[in-house]
Amino acid sequence: MASVGFIGLGNMGAPMMRNLIKAGHKVKAFDLSETARKSAADAGASPCAHAADAAKGVEVVVSMLPAGQHVKSVMLGESGLYALADKNTLFIDSSTIDVATARLLSDEAAKAGHAMVDAPVSGGVGGAEAGTLTFMVGGPDTAFARANPFLEVMGKTIVHAGGPGNGQAAKICNNMLLGISMIGTCEAFALAEKLGLDAQKLFDISSKSSGQNWSMTSYCPVPGPVPASPANRDYQPGFAAAMMLKDLKLAVEAAQVAGATIPLGAEAAQLYAMMAGAGQGGLDFSGIIHMLRGKA
Ligand code: NAD
Repeated sequence: MASVGFIGLGNMGAPMMRNLIKAGHKVKAFDLSETARKSAADAGASPCAHAADAAKGVEVVVSMLPAGQHVKSVMLGESGLYALADKNTLFIDSSTIDVATARLLSDEAAKAGHAMVDAPVSGGVGGAEAGTLTFMVGGPDTAFARANPFLEVMGKTIVHAGGPGNGQAAKICNNMLLGISMIGTCEAFALAEKLGLDAQKLFDISSKSSGQNWSMTSYCPVPGPVPASPANRDYQPGFAAAMMLKDLKLAVEAAQVAGATIPLGAEAAQLYAMMAGAGQGGLDFSGIIHMLRGKA
């Protein structure tokens, strides 16, 4: 069993860390929040007062932080973990961040004598708790091979998407498609209402027809057809609209840099920005149906 440093013990990081402990790894844990560090200690981790303490004397450092600027501030510079960790540490960054930063972090890790993979996840807090996350991994073959046994403890599906940054590329492409498909699904249900077509009937037909998609069959935006969907609990997330907006902004930014044309992705970003601007960012992303019906 290995010694692992874990940085970022929030909604996702804490349960991922607990699964590493359950598998027998020794975990040194750090978060800016004292409450998070205390919970980590209760779960069997050694809490650390500084990020550097969690990164020294370990084989692997996993990070699960809000955005690219947080990962850069923790990893880079004279007091960053790349400078302070033992040589040849494996860094696994599971945060969802922009592709350019993921590639920069990979280059800097190599310069400092470490290995790094970007390994963002899909599956949400439920998947993190159950150890069933999907990991989309970017990085060299050797780094992927070292990371895989740790990822298998926290997830069920692990795909090596290619070189550095390709895990993040897969994540934003997937979530852009998800945002677009949710808006399309909401529009179909809102139109059905106006046309006097019962939502359950539309579901029975479309979920077995060419309009079938995950937003409809797993996160159906109206109450009833899919009992576990957030629509049945007043749109409590689930996957918050604010997080969808974050991922859509990353897709728009990446498309600008890469010269890709994504008119629907850009429109989806604008619609989720309107939803968040109306104070609804904490609702599940399927709650955008209220706005599309013309009701906030
Ligand atoms: P969160 O806000 O619950 O947790 C982030 C944690 O990082 C917080 O505990 C915060 O105190 C800590 N933190 C911030 N800056 C730090 C620093 N410099 N050093 C140490 N700790 C620091 O967020 P989350 O929901 O756990 O999401 C983490 C990442 O996973 C994000 O990039 C998010 O986009 C991605 N993600 C989240 C979900 C989800 O459903 N929540 C799903 C897939 C991907």
